[in-house]
Amino acid sequence: MKQSIFITRKIPDHVLNQLQEKYNVAIWDHEEIPVPRDILEEKISEVDGLFCLLTDSIDSELLQKAHKLKVISNLAVGFNNIDVKASTEKGIIVTNTPGVLTETTADLTFALLMATARRIPEASDYLREGNWSTWSPMLLTGQDIHHATLGIIGLGRIGEALAKRAKGFEMNVLYHNRNRKPEIEEQIGLQYASLENLLKESDFVCILAPYTNETKNMIRKEHFHLMKPTSILINTARGGIVNETDLYDSLIEGEIWAAGLDVFEQEPVPLDHPLLTLPNVVTLPHIGSASINTRLKMAEVAMSNLMSALDGEKPKYIVNAELFLGGE
Ligand code: NAP
Repeated sequence: MKQSIFITRKIPDHVLNQLQEKYNVAIWDHEEIPVPRDILEEKISEVDGLFCLLTDSIDSELLQKAHKLKVISNLAVGFNNIDVKASTEKGIIVTNTPGVLTETTADLTFALLMATARRIPEASDYLREGNWSTWSPMLLTGQDIHHATLGIIGLGRIGEALAKRAKGFEMNVLYHNRNRKPEIEEQIGLQYASLENLLKESDFVCILAPYTNETKNMIRKEHFHLMKPTSILINTARGGIVNETDLYDSLIEGEIWAAGLDVFEQEPVPLDHPLLTLPNVVTLPHIGSASINTRLKMAEVAMSNLMSALDGEKPKYIVNAELFLGGE
């Protein structure tokens, strides 16, 4: 008998077709509406495999209903939407899609950095709203990117790709991780810094660490106090890493100069969110990996992870590899 899977959103046709050939597939076939919780609860109790997105909260309560689930294949590199501990306790494999989205997300992060520093959305609105009456020396002036200091918090795959881009702009690059990376420091020409020094010295602070218990609320009031009044915060990692109330206060008080945000604590961000009222905040709807090629590749990787797990093999990108310990 065929195994069964549930897919929580519309996915590319060629991936769906391959999955339908092999499994009994149920799908929440909508582009812009997340699967309702009651349907997710019903489906998770019936299927062997789940193909899901970062918008689906796969928590321990939901997992209690998963009677025969073998794999949760998340279409993202981040997996903070899944209770990995509870999955592992139930022997459910959790997979993600790292690597294929690295360069695309680094491109977006650098684009957001440039857009925020040079006030590109604000300038574009200025023109379209009919405000452009003449050229003026200090009109819509921003911050320089070239030769500035970039501090990366979380120098992993995407952070490293971002650092390479920054080097092309002759930026001085600092980074902060829990573990130093001496080889990468030498290869790309980076300097390790404590979090405090990175915040004090950087003109741009980019967050690219995963969202974990340790990084939740990692950047808050006391950290903004350390930053330069001309500095810019860019977050393309996850919303909860930055305390949004403290960020708003620091922007209002002029402790930092601007922010570029692709991610928010609550997504979609409510339209009455205070940060959306500030002209020096550039906002995007979580589109870090959103290029056509990358999203297609992510769907293929998620499919292949799911298939491997359902075939009883170790998937290429597994989050809870401890499930396979001793089996190799
Ligand atoms: P990665 O290769 O795992 O890199 C994450 C880095 O963060 C690691 O080098 C890690 O180094 C560091 N880190 C972890 N905990 C830390 C802490 N407490 N303090 C400081 N550094 C810490 O992951 P990646 O592929 O680069 O992706 C990074 C994150 O970007 C993902 O987790 C995801 O949430 C986000 N993302 C967002 C988008 C988007 O659409 N906006 C797209 C892709 C990814 P140490 O272990 O040495 O600390």
